[in-house]
Amino acid sequence: MQSLMQPHPLLISSLLKHAARHHADAEVVSRSDDGAVHRTTWGATEGRARRLANALAGLGVGAGDRVGTLAWNDHRHLEIYYAAPGMGAICHTINPRLHPDDIAYIITHAGDVVLCVDPGFAGLIETIAPAIAATVRAVVMLAAPAQMPALALPPGMALLCYDTLMAAAAEEFTWPALSEATASSLCYTSGTTGRPKGVVYSHRSTVLHGYAINMADVLGLRAIDRVLPVVPMFHVNAWGIPYAAAMAGSGLVLPGRHLDGASLHALMNAERVTLAAGVPTVWMGLLAHLRATGGRLDTVKIIMTGGSACPPLLIEAFGNEYGIAVEHGWGMTEMSPVGTYNKPKPAHLGLDPAGRTRLGLKQGRILCGLDMKIVDGTGAELPWDGIAFGDLKVRGPWVTTAYAGEPQGSALDAEGWFATGDVATIDPQGMMEITDRSKDVIKSGGEWISSITLENLAVSHPDVAEAAVVAAVHPKWDERPVLIVVARPGRQIDPDSVLAVYADKVPRWWVPDAVVVLDGLPHTATGKLQKTVLREQFRGHLVL
Ligand code: ADP
Repeated sequence: MQSLMQPHPLLISSLLKHAARHHADAEVVSRSDDGAVHRTTWGATEGRARRLANALAGLGVGAGDRVGTLAWNDHRHLEIYYAAPGMGAICHTINPRLHPDDIAYIITHAGDVVLCVDPGFAGLIETIAPAIAATVRAVVMLAAPAQMPALALPPGMALLCYDTLMAAAAEEFTWPALSEATASSLCYTSGTTGRPKGVVYSHRSTVLHGYAINMADVLGLRAIDRVLPVVPMFHVNAWGIPYAAAMAGSGLVLPGRHLDGASLHALMNAERVTLAAGVPTVWMGLLAHLRATGGRLDTVKIIMTGGSACPPLLIEAFGNEYGIAVEHGWGMTEMSPVGTYNKPKPAHLGLDPAGRTRLGLKQGRILCGLDMKIVDGTGAELPWDGIAFGDLKVRGPWVTTAYAGEPQGSALDAEGWFATGDVATIDPQGMMEITDRSKDVIKSGGEWISSITLENLAVSHPDVAEAAVVAAVHPKWDERPVLIVVARPGRQIDPDSVLAVYADKVPRWWVPDAVVVLDGLPHTATGKLQKTVLREQFRGHLVL
């Protein structure tokens, strides 16, 4: 017997149509550079996205063409998020914080035909224009005519004004009935190692990811929520929030480019934000601002943190001082991005405050639809005892099979698992905890030492502002850990006192062999510690 269910494809345009039909009045609020606030609704956004689909078609954008964006989180960027995939083209979000050479490489590699750019990036475009002239036909400034920057572009590359194009375009447009396997969007990983690599999402993977993050044990967005993605729309589709918010009919608050504590505090209260998502650095900035000013957050209930490990201070301070739950998620560009999320199981309900913080530091349980496992160096699966740690592998419908330009399946092992490059433990409740990146783990005498555990303990010392632990070559043990620290302003670092933090906390053989004090540590464009640079620099530290 055949299934008789309706074969509707899972399409991004359906999410927007749903929001417009059933949550037409739900607000979409954007803050622009000058602090002005732009207000629209999901209903109006759908009409604008149709208009934009016509405008893009007028520029010759067709099925499968890439539309690049270099933009902060706002309503115009949201329109592109829906119009480009909705019409069968591909929305390619680009991280403007990358080096201009990498940006030019990404645009050329992706073959972007049109670039939609915030006026603030006009200088960047001028710099890279010669390098991208072979592929980019038009640069559309995301601005009103009065805000158009003066810009010299090479012949064959038009400079256009978004608002002018939109005013001239018709609103009548029917979203095509695409196959759900159609490519919808494209993100490049920030390239902590080597050249950035592209991940191509489909309508199907995007919609399924949206449903998954809207489960109650994940973000669980509701119509009464007002959600603030502080995570940029150029960072893995703002973790899927612009799509998940449309599914739920939530109000969407887009913060523009000012992500400092004072700006976020003002926006959160003024716009009655209930849930916000971003990286730990942003929340540390917000916390410092609140503590310095005595400010309160009136409506926020949940802060989702991800992208790098959550410091215990965030969970404790927001929980105890402000009554806000800090929830930890983990993911990566290759998995759309959310893979795990930390919400309690019945076994966790009686935990004391210290136990709750300890639990909150774990990256969480796998989302339904995905699966995960940890394996040792031979590929054998490791036990879920919360102690054994090994390479973390995942699979599921929103995990990529390959990088852009490479053959299907080329990023998977023989059983279809994707190696995340993270090293993790999984406890008996299925809570995963990252202990390291595979490349950063220190292999001492055949045993593994977690650099992240050592770093987290180091920053618990009152004199230490930031810490990195890297492997140095060792004649007897192959590799041994070296601790690199930066002092807090006005403090002096005594290496012995810092090493004392490890007593009773880690096995004796984990304690670093040397402590190096630096003025600062190198970071990537997404704010992550650039271990590759430090590894190079300190590789020979113990054999010199
Ligand atoms: P890139 O890999 O280019 O830095 P991604 O945004 O794809 O960019 O980063 C994914 C990686 O970020 C993960 O593999 C993991 O190492 C790290 N990461 C993401 N979320 C967390 C988290 N909650 N805790 C620790 N590490 C995290």
